[in-house]
Amino acid sequence: MKKIFMYNLLNMEKPFVKHFAAQHPDVTFAGTPDKLTSKNVGLAKGADGISIHFNSPEKSLYSSLHKFGVKIIGVRQTGYNEVDLDAAKKNHLVVTNVPGYSPRSVAEMALTHVMYLLRHIGDIRQREAKGDFLWAGDEAREIHNLTVGVIGTGKIGGTSAKIYKALGAKVLGSDPYPNPQLKSTLTYVPLKTLLQTADVIVLHTPLLKSTRHMIGAKEFKLMKNSVIFVNVSRGAVVDTNALIDALKDHEIAAAGLDTIEDEGNTFNRDNKGTIPNQYIKQLINMPNVLITPHVAYDTDNSVKNMVEISLNDIYDVINGKSVKDQLNK
Ligand code: NAD
Repeated sequence: MKKIFMYNLLNMEKPFVKHFAAQHPDVTFAGTPDKLTSKNVGLAKGADGISIHFNSPEKSLYSSLHKFGVKIIGVRQTGYNEVDLDAAKKNHLVVTNVPGYSPRSVAEMALTHVMYLLRHIGDIRQREAKGDFLWAGDEAREIHNLTVGVIGTGKIGGTSAKIYKALGAKVLGSDPYPNPQLKSTLTYVPLKTLLQTADVIVLHTPLLKSTRHMIGAKEFKLMKNSVIFVNVSRGAVVDTNALIDALKDHEIAAAGLDTIEDEGNTFNRDNKGTIPNQYIKQLINMPNVLITPHVAYDTDNSVKNMVEISLNDIYDVINGKSVKDQLNK
C-alpha cells in the first residue's frame, strides 16, 4: 500500500481528496492543516509522496524527506519559487507543480482589481463610511477606450489579454517568448513602450531571478501618472518600496495587489486587528489601493483541479511513471 501525506490541507480541498482516494484504493491519504516545517516533517515518515501548498521548506528538510523514503514533493499550485529545486534533486526528490489549473481564475481577479480601481470604488466606500455620498471626484474611464499592457503572456496573461480584447480595449504584450497564437489579440512591444503607453498594466510573470524587482522606481517613472497597476503574479516581482513611493508621489494613479512581498507573515492568517507586514500596513488605507490576500486562484474550479492534477502526478511518480509537470528533470 502506498501513502501520500498532505501538508497545509485546507477544508475546501478535503472533498476533492476524498473523491481521489475513493478512486485509488491502493493509496492511503493523511494530512495536517499545518505547513511543512522541521517540527512536523516526521509526519512524512512512511509516505511515498508528499503534497505541499504555499510553503517554503527549509533546506534541511529535503534530506529528511529523502531519508524517510519520500520520492516526490507535489506542489499543488502553479508558482513554485518557494521550493529549492536543486536541493530536491540532490536528494532524489521529484518536484511537480500544477500549471494552468484555471488561468481564468487569476485573470478574472486581475480584471476585478482593474474595474474596482477604474471606478474609484475604494474612495467611494471610504467616503460612504463617513456619510459622504457626494458625486464629487468619481469620474471614471471606460475600459474600451483604454490601452491595457499585459506583462507575461503565458497561460494566465494570455487569458487576461483575451478578456481585455473582448471588452474592446487595445492590448499590448511584453514577454521574452511571444506567443504567435495571441497575434489577433495583442501587439507585442518592448517593455519600455508598454510601460510608457498603457493606461492599465497587469503583471502575470513568474517570480524568477530575472523577474525579481523587475518593476521598480525606474519602471514606475516611465508609466503614465494615470496608470492603474495590478500585480496578481508574485509580490517580489515588484519593488514594493518603489511602488509605495510611486503612489505617494502620484507617479501612478492606483495599484491592485493580490500578492505582496513577504506576504507570508500576514496572508491566510487572522492577525487579530494587527498587520504584521510593513508594506501592507502602509498601503491598506490608501483609497486608490486594493489588496486581496493571494486569493486570485481561489475558485471552485481551481481548487478541484489543483488537488486532482497534483495528486495524479504524485500517484504516477510513486508508481514509477514520469510526468509532464516535473520541474527538476
Ligand atoms: P506561464 O508559465 O504560463 O506564463 C508565464 C509567462 O511569463 C511566460 O510566457 C514567460 O515567458 C513570461 N515571462 C518570463 N519572464 C518574463 C519577463 N521578464 N517579462 C515578461 N514576461 C516574462 O505561467 P502562468 O500559469 O501564466 O502563471 C504566471 C504566474 O502567475 C505564476 O508563475 C504565479 O507566480 C502567478 N500565479 C498567481 C496566482 C494567484 O493566486 N495570485 C495563481 C496562479 C499563478
